[in-house]
Amino acid sequence: MCETCGCTITLDNRNLVHLSHPHEGTDAVTVLADLLAANDHQAQHNRAHFDAHRALAVNLMSSPGAGKTRLIEATIDALRGKYTMAVIEGDLETENDAERVRAKGVVAHQITTGTACHLDAHMVHDALHHLALDGVDIVFIENVGNLICPASFDLGQHWNVTLLAATEGDDKPAKYPVMFRAADLVLLTKIDLLPVLDDFEPARAEAALRNLASRAPLIPLSAKTGHGLDAWLDWLQRSASRRRSHDSERARMA
Ligand code: MG
Repeated sequence: MCETCGCTITLDNRNLVHLSHPHEGTDAVTVLADLLAANDHQAQHNRAHFDAHRALAVNLMSSPGAGKTRLIEATIDALRGKYTMAVIEGDLETENDAERVRAKGVVAHQITTGTACHLDAHMVHDALHHLALDGVDIVFIENVGNLICPASFDLGQHWNVTLLAATEGDDKPAKYPVMFRAADLVLLTKIDLLPVLDDFEPARAEAALRNLASRAPLIPLSAKTGHGLDAWLDWLQRSASRRRSHDSERARMA
């Protein structure tokens, strides 16, 4: 992951490095281990925050341009009036995606990471200070478009959903195994383009996923035409319902 590019150290966690390793020549492996431990601690705190508000948190990951924001827009349209949603957006720069979500009438907070190619739990924690979760059923966290680093940082989400667009290679799961092993659900997006793509075979993409010993469901869909969207919405609504019933069960036992 980020040992070579150095992106593990972000604006939001760099203070941890200075606090725990004030001297020059600190061993890089120790710094990395400390940062990931601090990240996991913060992620647990974030998850407790989502749980306290009975909100399902879904981390959307993919390469850039696979259709994460478009999927969020289509999901908002489909579930409007049934579920209350909120969105945390992650990009290196711009408010563009948050503005697209707000245009749909849904609260969104944009994280701009600067140079960091992933979100971390500290960034999400800061974002949660800007999002009121009372009454929110589902929180989408749209990670930075990248098939490598985002898979290594727990944000406090309940589920990881990884998108693979038909415009990418069907061998992406083989090339980026850490990302696809981390996925609880894989969405094969932009399938409306399959008729004009002669080098993407959905069966090969699924075989590459199964070769990783992943049992994650794979749902082909097009947010543009709506084909396959129902399967994704079913998965999402079942997940949100389970979270609610889990919480009410816990409340009964308390
Ligand atoms: Mg986006």
